Amino acid sequence: MIPKPTFSRQQAPLWQHELRKAFARPADLLEFLQLDPALPALQLERLRDFPLRVPHGFAGRMKKGDASDPLFLQVWPQAREAEDTPGFSQDAVGDLHKLKPGGLIHKYEGRALVVATGACAINCRYCFRRHFPYSDAIAARGHWQETLRQLQSDPSIEEVILSGGDPLSLSDDKLAELVTALDALPQLRRLRIHTRQPVVLPERVDDHLLSWISGTRLKVAVVIHANHANELDSSVAAALERLRDAGATLLNQAVLLKGVNDSVSALEDLSKKLFDCGVLPYYLHMLDRVAGAAHFEIPLEEATALMQALSSRLSGYLVPRLVREDAGAPSKTLLPW
Ligand SMILES: *Cc1c(COP(=O)(O)O)cnc(C)c1O
Ligand code: SF4
Repeated sequence: MIPKPTFSRQQAPLWQHELRKAFARPADLLEFLQLDPALPALQLERLRDFPLRVPHGFAGRMKKGDASDPLFLQVWPQAREAEDTPGFSQDAVGDLHKLKPGGLIHKYEGRALVVATGACAINCRYCFRRHFPYSDAIAARGHWQETLRQLQSDPSIEEVILSGGDPLSLSDDKLAELVTALDALPQLRRLRIHTRQPVVLPERVDDHLLSWISGTRLKVAVVIHANHANELDSSVAAALERLRDAGATLLNQAVLLKGVNDSVSALEDLSKKLFDCGVLPYYLHMLDRVAGAAHFEIPLEEATALMQALSSRLSGYLVPRLVREDAGAPSKTLLPW
């Protein structure tokens, strides 16, 4: 059983306060990082669809004065986003057609993904989410009855994957309500949460969150989305330790990104740092070919060469699986190297 929160609800949690303070104006971020105010950027009016958004704590892990910092590159809206590149589209992974009422995407056997919310604590420029029509999809907007009904109608589903957006953008009251309902479905064994918040907003891992994670009978896996070792500072390590103490198994999914982590040493450092934090590398994703993100793409031959070099340097369990999402395939496509 998930305990009802016994905490005072007088004040909004600290993480929501941090979220409201996040950098939203390119000029403010440049000033904070002591970068050239004239650094080229996407035109403001084009930025409106997918704005800049960076929590202060995450920006604090970027190197001042370095426009090629691997964390900065993940969030900086480059002018090149406006370029049209053949092969890059609005719905790169074909999910828009798969979305059922209640925010459910059931593409793969045994597990179903719930698009819980469209909101994120950070806006990552490589993300497929930038073109997602969330208003139609979101499970949290009163559609949970429909989500639960759909799950019950297919007893082969034994794992629910909370995704988004970032599912931890929802309040703990909402999440506890959903997880209590999932807990009561006997067919379910596992709850997986795909979230970047323990990394970009470690304040999010507070007592309210931990109470429903430790309270469910479901086995919980939290897949954090870290792309570079510099993202994992001591505040993140502490948040991850608390998640493990609450009983969650921690995995990481990274995206292979040009300029960010496309070197053997960057990938090696990431795997080692993850394990220091009690997280196992799970997937290394090829970029989803989404319009606006072409400047991050690494060719397949280069990716496989990186994997070969990486696997010669690391223990087997520290080597992530190189995968690509192919529309219509029965699982992620494992890419041999
Ligand atoms: C990636 C994904 C999953 C999970 O796949 P795993 O290989 O189990 O990590 C499930 N559903 C959808 C729709 C996905 O895109
Ligand atoms: S869904 Fe993940 S990758 Fe995309 S913007 Fe949100 S946190 Fe970043």
